[in-house]
Amino acid sequence: MAALVQQYVDRIRAEQISLRDGALASYIPELAKADPEGFGLTLSASDGYVYESGDTAVEFTIQSISKPFTYALALDQIGQDAVDARIGVEPTGEAFNEISVDNVTKTPKNPMINAGAIAAVSLIPGDSVGERFERILEFYSECAGRRLDIDMDVYASEKATGNRNRAIAYMLTSFGALTGDPDEVLDVYFRQCSIKVTTTDLARMAATLARGGLNPLTGRQVTDANVIRRTLSVMVTCGMYDATGDWVSAVGLPAKSGVGGGIVAVLPGQLGIGVYSPRLDSRGNSVRGVQVCRSLSAQLGLHFLTVSRESSATLRAVFDPSPRVRVYEIQGDLLFAGVEQVLRTAERDRDDYDVAVLDVTRVNDINDAARGMLIGLRASLAGGDKEAYLVDPEGWVVRADRREDYRGIVFRTLDEAVDAARQLEIG
Ligand code: GLU
Repeated sequence: MAALVQQYVDRIRAEQISLRDGALASYIPELAKADPEGFGLTLSASDGYVYESGDTAVEFTIQSISKPFTYALALDQIGQDAVDARIGVEPTGEAFNEISVDNVTKTPKNPMINAGAIAAVSLIPGDSVGERFERILEFYSECAGRRLDIDMDVYASEKATGNRNRAIAYMLTSFGALTGDPDEVLDVYFRQCSIKVTTTDLARMAATLARGGLNPLTGRQVTDANVIRRTLSVMVTCGMYDATGDWVSAVGLPAKSGVGGGIVAVLPGQLGIGVYSPRLDSRGNSVRGVQVCRSLSAQLGLHFLTVSRESSATLRAVFDPSPRVRVYEIQGDLLFAGVEQVLRTAERDRDDYDVAVLDVTRVNDINDAARGMLIGLRASLAGGDKEAYLVDPEGWVVRADRREDYRGIVFRTLDEAVDAARQLEIG
């Protein structure tokens, strides 16, 4: 099986090797020194298993792919409200280095353009350039699962030539949208753009996003799922410079590209992708990288808005172990749509039973909304003199430490629940 997937990955990369359009970034000499033929592709499965093809050990600078990660770190460190007060989430359709802010709020429109990325750096706690940068480097390293490092030559050049970014930082300062010394903030920003990664690092960082902040390689929870959801949202709407609309339509994966030639793309819950090829199109995206992601998405069916089927049937079995007791065996991932189906069925059948037993033993996942809805069924049936029991040995709906509060309603086995229901019948 793994060999077959490796063949897919190799073939999808091979299909684009003859593509030589585009040009190396040349705003600093270091980037123009890259081997234009360099081409690597890594896919990480959600459990951290990686498929590598081509130049996956070649290091290049992360550049703008740093932006979603520093934004995530800012959210993680100071919380969404504080970040939202400083950086918007509106796509601009402008170039990444546009010197612009929102007309009304005077804050950067989103964190994927330079203005927003520089503002995000200023939100990272730290008393010095070194401390702030170390926090950023540490966070990226935790996402990648190895200690990353900086390319000092690229950093020196970014710093020497970064006048446009200086203009942006000083403009933000003049609007009160940047805290701290703009030169210090810029220094950290230039450093973060100069962090070296490989496609395998990017795939692992993407997999950490795909897993809601859990690095599947190290098993460490780097940040939480709310931070990741927000980060992926801005990657969807603003991640690919001014070609984001095209990208979302054709590829349909939250992503971010950088002028170093890298692209990171994420299929939430399933996959992380890292690709590198340094020739860029007019918008600054890797030409081969975009094509590889298009083919991956089309050939492997990765577009995140693909509607493949109706949300999976959640009721595994419905039966009456006794005349006035009805059991609903529930399976799979219990999210809103699945629970809605279960509740509608149970409420429709209410005349057929006195006790509905919901057996969630075979559930794989659940969210808070589903939990609340399942617990609420009891209250909604109560008006009609009905009872709802739960068979929940794993604590999917009612955590083990809360089980006492639900004594007589929540059971460990179906037999126990049915016995209790029968007694109610007799009584
Ligand atoms: N260091 C570059 C800049 O801020 C990054 C550009 C990019 O990758 O888009 O101008």
